[in-house]
Amino acid sequence: MKYDYLIVGSGLFGVTFAYLAKQKGKRCLVIDKRSHLGGNIYCENIEGINVHKYGAHIFHTSNKQVWDFVNSIVEFNRYTNSPVANYKGKLYNLPFNMNTFYQMWGVTTPDEAMAKIEEQKAEAVAKMNADGVTEPRNLEEQAKTLIGTDIYESLIKGYTEKQWGRKCIELPAFIIKRLPVRLVFDNNYFNDKYQGIPIGGYNKLIDGLLDGVETRTGVDFSTLKGTWHDIADKLVYTGAIDEYFDYCYGKLEYRTVRFETEVLDTANYQGNAVVNYTEREVPYTRVIEHKHFEMFGQEVYNCPKTVISKEYSTEWQQGMEPYYPVNDQRNNELAEKYREKAKNNKDVIFGGRLAEYKYYDMAPIIEQVFEIFNNK
Ligand code: FAD
Ligand code: UDP
Repeated sequence: MKYDYLIVGSGLFGVTFAYLAKQKGKRCLVIDKRSHLGGNIYCENIEGINVHKYGAHIFHTSNKQVWDFVNSIVEFNRYTNSPVANYKGKLYNLPFNMNTFYQMWGVTTPDEAMAKIEEQKAEAVAKMNADGVTEPRNLEEQAKTLIGTDIYESLIKGYTEKQWGRKCIELPAFIIKRLPVRLVFDNNYFNDKYQGIPIGGYNKLIDGLLDGVETRTGVDFSTLKGTWHDIADKLVYTGAIDEYFDYCYGKLEYRTVRFETEVLDTANYQGNAVVNYTEREVPYTRVIEHKHFEMFGQEVYNCPKTVISKEYSTEWQQGMEPYYPVNDQRNNELAEKYREKAKNNKDVIFGGRLAEYKYYDMAPIIEQVFEIFNNK
């Protein structure tokens, strides 16, 4: 019997699509080239700890419909992302807030903090004016005019240059606009209304969404390319778009992350899920201690070991995991050509971060799938 949909990729896009299609009475087959389901939110259990194998994932959204949807599949815990920055052994709270300003300058009131920031911003603006420019031309100028030199030099410069592999003066200003600046004592990284981690881990979310759906792992779509019409009426493709079109216009590029994961014989290594190392001389960008996403209070000590991952941001090469699209002119133009070509394939739905060559957080991925079903 033929399927209604062959879904290539069991990441959040593919499995949310499968769940909603099944509710409409459609038959789906989900395939994935990896040996497991779940795409990049898949977790591997090591020593009783859910290890985020493809990078730390924190679910956050202000969309109540999305939040209710994921919670209808699995309940979420109260994890609140509050990363700490380590600069030359001294710790600072993130995002930039009153705690950070106190740690940086000893200021204790919002007015004092504001005065300090304004003083530093004025210096940066004066320097730009001396160069005859009014708008920040790059990330360095953007950061300095947003928050001042002290924070830029200690908490932004080194981290950003490691993450993007390029100097801040060569990077676009918009990257840093994402960082919130707050004049309250609030270490919650996200401004969203809802956040958390599925209780029992992300695999529970995947399994719940795929309940009753047929799946096959270890199957690469390339082996079915000429024959998929025999299997299903329609295709949902969440793999890389350039690969789908046999790289006919050339290859898209990515940034990737290499993880060095270690099991340690201690219950609590760094006291927080995320510690950013913001100086250039430390080769990794951050250290994730996975248990803190799901274990709180005494639970941390009930589990005698811990698992940490050091993240090294690197240039992507064929065979590595493609993580972040590169937002430069070459890649944007190339991706646009592929997206145009995709529009001619009426029986294929291209979706998700690889098929769109666009960075998406998890909640917007679910919103995308909702939209497809609302328009059906
Ligand atoms: P994926 O999860 O990548 O799934 C695509 C699937 O398709 C993969 O399983 C792949 O194996 C399969 N596939 C590809 N090609 C083929 C083929 N030819 N044949 C068969 N199968 C194929 N979002 C947040 O909201 N919060 C976070 O904290 C967060 N942290 C992140 C950290 C990192 C390092 C990264 C890279 C992303 C992060 N995200 C985060 C984003 C989140 O991972 C994505 O929104 C989500 O994974 C996108 O799902 P997807 O289905 O589009 O892609
Ligand atoms: N950033 C920084 N120092 C930090 C954390 C972030 O300078 O300690 C900068 C960096 O340039 C990064 C950007 O802020 O690319 C956005 O960081 P965020 O953690 O919000 O997003 P991510 O890129 O990790 O998804």
